[in-house]
Amino acid sequence: MSYIVAIDGPAGSGKGTLTKVVAKELGLVSIDTGMLYRCHALAVVRNNIDLDDKENIIKIMDNIEIKLKNENNIQTVFLDGEDVTDQIRLPEVNNTVSLTSSIPEVREKVTELERKIGYDWLKEGKNIIMEGRDITTVVFPEAEIKIYLDATPVERAKRRMEQQARKGINETFQEVLESIMKRDKNDMNKKVGALKELQVQYIYINAIKL
Ligand code: C5P
Repeated sequence: MSYIVAIDGPAGSGKGTLTKVVAKELGLVSIDTGMLYRCHALAVVRNNIDLDDKENIIKIMDNIEIKLKNENNIQTVFLDGEDVTDQIRLPEVNNTVSLTSSIPEVREKVTELERKIGYDWLKEGKNIIMEGRDITTVVFPEAEIKIYLDATPVERAKRRMEQQARKGINETFQEVLESIMKRDKNDMNKKVGALKELQVQYIYINAIKL
């Protein structure tokens, strides 16, 4: 029988790294849901939609096509057929995504897409590991294994800065820390799909060094 591993946690907590390691060890298909929200945010940035213009932020969801490809657990994301895997990591997307993803109508559509992606793999007889902010609470609350991963903001900012530098994106530690703390605040205060620590049956790994 197929099973689901769901992982939630704040930005830079190491979800991506842990997901890749577990997926490789156990032969699971890994799914990074942040890429879907980032893809929508990139479309908002590219179309110069004002962050106060909620109507158009929602509307653009119906006019774009977001596709995730997963080959041997290397995930790429396509916006209207264009591979935007690198562009979704740009600072302007980081600074847009927690706001655009806080809109319930946007979340509804992305959640639908996440469930479809998950069920498609399960139907193929694969086991999946899905990471995000609301996977354990909203997308797959029925997951067999649920994990909440966390680390201090400073530790997370350090790791995020190193990741960005490897991609040739240079930001100061202060900039990354501020962006992470702003995102934490937004992610934890969303009306729908807010990042919540699991209260029952959880594994809490603090300040994990991966
Ligand atoms: O995981 P990552 O940092 O790439 O996610 C980018 C943003 O997308 C997060 O800051 C969060 O606002 C949003 N997100 C979300 N729900 C998810 C995954 C990501 O709201 N399941």
